[in-house]
Amino acid sequence: MPYYPLNLLYLGVLSLVNMTDDVQELNGEKYDAMYTEAIRFKSFQNWPFDENSACSASKMAEAGFFHCPTKHEPDLVQCYVCFKELDGWEATDEPWAEHFSHSKICLFAQLRKPQKDLTVAEIYKIESERKKNKIKRVIAQHLQKFRKMTDELEGFIQEQIKVIEVSKKKKKT
Ligand SMILES: [Zn+2]
Repeated sequence: MPYYPLNLLYLGVLSLVNMTDDVQELNGEKYDAMYTEAIRFKSFQNWPFDENSACSASKMAEAGFFHCPTKHEPDLVQCYVCFKELDGWEATDEPWAEHFSHSKICLFAQLRKPQKDLTVAEIYKIESERKKNKIKRVIAQHLQKFRKMTDELEGFIQEQIKVIEVSKKKKKT
């Protein structure tokens, strides 16, 4: 039992140290393969909106989204540059406008250009932004894990203090 807080701290530090490995491992993630409009378009299997809708599969792919449905979110999509996830689509929703309004930091949404209109310089800049976003995302995930561990540790210490206080009172009586 006395080793419990030390183990937690060790796990927390280890989690931060492993962050670099995780950034490298992330290269194999689903959104790394989504850099062309054609590949993103193919992901829209069973998309609930037809090609006449404002948010048709081709317009969604053009606006940087790929389809990543879950059991409870059949219309879930994600941007391959800023990784923003959006669901709850309606037939009249305009993908570029929705993308920008929910993720103003996204360079792809700011440029608002179909793939064929992007310059080589813009493509390089998008890829560099995408890598930065990926690193920020991994750091945020690790910090969240670390915070959870320090919260647990604090809870454990508080409990121990209470136990000590109760035992002190018992000795007095
Ligand atoms: Zn985006």
